[in-house]
Amino acid sequence: MVSRVIPVDVFDLVIFGATGDLARRKILPALYRRHSAGQMPADSRIIGAARADLTDTGFRDQVRAALAEFVPETARDQTATDEFLARISYVPVDATEDAGWGRLSGMMRAGVVRAFYFSVAPSLFGDIASRLHDHGIADAQSRIVVEKPFGRDLASARALNGVLAQHFSEAQIYRIDHYLGKETVQNLMAVRFANILFEPLWKAEYVDHVQITVAETVGVNGRGAYYDKSGAMRDMVQNHMMQLLCLIAMEPPYHFDPDAVRDEKLKVIRALKPVQPENIVRGQYSAAGNEPGYADHAENPASRTESYIALKVHVSNWRWQGVPFYLRTGKRLRARASEIAITFKQPPHAIFDDAKGWQENVLVIRLQPNEGMNLMVMIKEPGPGGMRLMQVPLDMSFAEALGAEADEVPDAYERLIMDVIRGNQTLFMRGDEVEAAWAWTDPIIEGWEGRGDRPQAYDPGSSGPEDALMLMHRDGRRWREIR
Ligand code: NAP
Repeated sequence: MVSRVIPVDVFDLVIFGATGDLARRKILPALYRRHSAGQMPADSRIIGAARADLTDTGFRDQVRAALAEFVPETARDQTATDEFLARISYVPVDATEDAGWGRLSGMMRAGVVRAFYFSVAPSLFGDIASRLHDHGIADAQSRIVVEKPFGRDLASARALNGVLAQHFSEAQIYRIDHYLGKETVQNLMAVRFANILFEPLWKAEYVDHVQITVAETVGVNGRGAYYDKSGAMRDMVQNHMMQLLCLIAMEPPYHFDPDAVRDEKLKVIRALKPVQPENIVRGQYSAAGNEPGYADHAENPASRTESYIALKVHVSNWRWQGVPFYLRTGKRLRARASEIAITFKQPPHAIFDDAKGWQENVLVIRLQPNEGMNLMVMIKEPGPGGMRLMQVPLDMSFAEALGAEADEVPDAYERLIMDVIRGNQTLFMRGDEVEAAWAWTDPIIEGWEGRGDRPQAYDPGSSGPEDALMLMHRDGRRWREIR
């Protein structure tokens, strides 16, 4: 199997914040890979923009260095690098001043897709949007791409939406959640809606509970001060985990169409019940040996910000009545693992005497590492020992199933940027979706802030705080092992 590369239309892509960390680590390497794959028409161009006073050559040198650092050697090639750099130019602009914008305006071509990537602090979104408009740089077909965080609560998200809406319609705004660009996350939709097998069982009648885990081994070192203002709820749950929950819980859209998909996700978010304090566990990783703890990394000994959170959540609709969704995410945990596990109920009647041997069917969708699916099924234990039962995994690793093609799977940013050029918003969050997610999140955060709750300490390298285990134990359930 060879993956198909369908070239996109000719484009001018302007990256604001082109000298920053995100552009160097993600955006420019992603564009290089799409260039190498032959997806960009020859006359598509990339224009870097930031305040730094650089020439085209000076910026290209920075891009060359970024590619050397962030694209593996096996995926780099001298000729492709030179061709890619030849597409790139640079214009110094300050988002808050008018100098330089006239020059940028003169660089834009008619008749090609215009896309503007706002890889800058959200406080600059309004300035950039209005200057793009005032200098006639953006036309009615132009697209803008904005990065997370999209607000830190409902009020700030509304304000950002309002600022962007002054000059751009919703159809022009691409809010990135890079989780949605991951191959396996999209596979969730394929698994659910392209197979008859799972959908009939996908409801409260047959599902006991759902676990969604995003575990990281890294701490917040290096960005502790920034993270301390956010925490796991804002950084992971409100956006990435909410998206995973939506893809699991949503009704089938009538078509795989941006607004049809996003309408269904929005209904899930709106159906989320408020979460009671006893269904929330927050944690902070402690120091261990010479290894600093969260408070050291955050340079805030009194910090009450969580580096771990577990929640029991209910989607209040017919399909999911009474089915708990347990979400957990944290840093400095035992292993790096993201997965969704759907645990099914017992068969209605047990015909085998070996009731002790019985375990639930579980469908595990692994997002990382080793993307794939695992269906835990019961079989007869081999041998002459009578009808004893045992559980075995039906294991499907996508890497094995797809062979060499799995190595060619594009990174989330590659796919998402190409979707912007194609004009496909399916994998981007709509403004109302983001606001609904904050409307659910805000009272939860206000609740623990108002009560003055402190996160519980947990050992680095563990699976999180003790109370998180209790959250499941008291329901007679267990978290899956993080590995
Ligand atoms: P960064 O490293 O601080 O880079 C900021 C960029 O903005 C630089 O190129 C900077 O260049 C430019 N800039 C700053 N002030 C400007 C102004 N007044 N006018 C024009 N350009 C200006 O930040 P980053 O990490 O790349 O993050 C960019 C955005 O992506 C942020 O919203 C961040 O939250 C989001 N994000 C980042 C990551 C990540 O991994 N880094 C991940 C997810 C989301 P000059 O100083 O030369 O102007």
